[in-house]
Amino acid sequence: MRTPFVAGNWKMNLDGARAAALVESIRSAATKTTAVEVGVFPPYPYLADVVRRCEGSSVRVGAQNCHAQNSGAFTGEVAAPMVKDVGATHVILGHSERRQFCGEDDAQVRAKLAAALAHGLVPIVCIGETLAERQAQRTLDVIRRQLDGALAGFSAAQLAPLVIAYEPVWAIGTGMNATPAQAVEVHRFIRASCAERFGAAFAAALRIQYGGSVKPENAAELLSEDEIDGALVGGASLDPRSFLSIVQAATV
Ligand code: PEP
Repeated sequence: MRTPFVAGNWKMNLDGARAAALVESIRSAATKTTAVEVGVFPPYPYLADVVRRCEGSSVRVGAQNCHAQNSGAFTGEVAAPMVKDVGATHVILGHSERRQFCGEDDAQVRAKLAAALAHGLVPIVCIGETLAERQAQRTLDVIRRQLDGALAGFSAAQLAPLVIAYEPVWAIGTGMNATPAQAVEVHRFIRASCAERFGAAFAAALRIQYGGSVKPENAAELLSEDEIDGALVGGASLDPRSFLSIVQAATV
């Protein structure tokens, strides 16, 4: 039985006071449930404060990205050991906005994944097709390419902490979510591909989140699917009531 994981990606939003208020509301409510794992991913400057505020609670805190190198002349970047050093435990990798705006490719995602795993961070690796790729019926090819690129060369044991987020690019921030049937088809494909590569036990334990315009109004129908092990939530994670209502939808 996989515990659903609902994670809030705050992206480049909020300020220190609003980040503090948001995590305080989430922490007090989310700690009451053990049926769902809850995580928040603040911007880097607020990461340490959010970690401190979540101490003693069950809320996971992570970064939205990390660099593949441990240190060096990479102005503006943040390394996996730094994320770990401030007490964060998770990291989002390969988000479509980083692929789109920062030119990240599958090889870079793989290198970042190696760094995250080497430093004991739980990685959420994001994969998903664009609208043009879906319309050209290339969704599963794209997913296979992204999985091959990111996961090549790792063993099942190394990847034990891995979480995958299936995030169709056309659904992110657009208000247009995948239907449960569309999401389930891709989640099944991801699980089957991982079974081929890493074995049935690995695939059965792998948590696959859905991300893309998840909100209180559509969370229940998506999260009631056995194949969907939680959500990676962008916009709706900035409002504590919306986010907690999505967490609630994952408990049933
Ligand atoms: C995301 O950024 O990962 C995301 C899914 O955003 P939104 O929920 O706003 O579509």
